[in-house]
Amino acid sequence: MSFILWVAIRGRLSTRDRIHKYDPMAVTTSVLCNTYPKSHAHLFFECLFSRTIWTQLMNICGSPWNGLCWNAFIDWASTHWRGNSPATVANKLCLGVAVYHIWRERNCAIFEGTQKTSLVVAHSIIDTIR
Ligand SMILES: [Zn+2]
Repeated sequence: MSFILWVAIRGRLSTRDRIHKYDPMAVTTSVLCNTYPKSHAHLFFECLFSRTIWTQLMNICGSPWNGLCWNAFIDWASTHWRGNSPATVANKLCLGVAVYHIWRERNCAIFEGTQKTSLVVAHSIIDTIR
């Protein structure tokens, strides 16, 4: 999971916008919501599917969704989530697990043609964190 997070933070996952640079015939719309072109920013925070997951996670954690975009959130987290306090470790764990599950769900939708609901994915994330 931490490898996927590291690659996502570096903006190097093979999202459809990146694939489109090499294959102009590639589909560019989000497989999770079938709307906007998929990028790291869209996949993890802007996609309606992902936003629903984050909202559910934040409700469970008792924190409101702050509505930051992907790059702003990563900048904010790298500044505020320093050290190894229990709260910081929990936040980092939640981010890593959520990114991993959203990326996995994207892959299942593309390669297997299956898609869980955002509620099911949110509960899978919570189960993994536990
Ligand atoms: Zn989407």
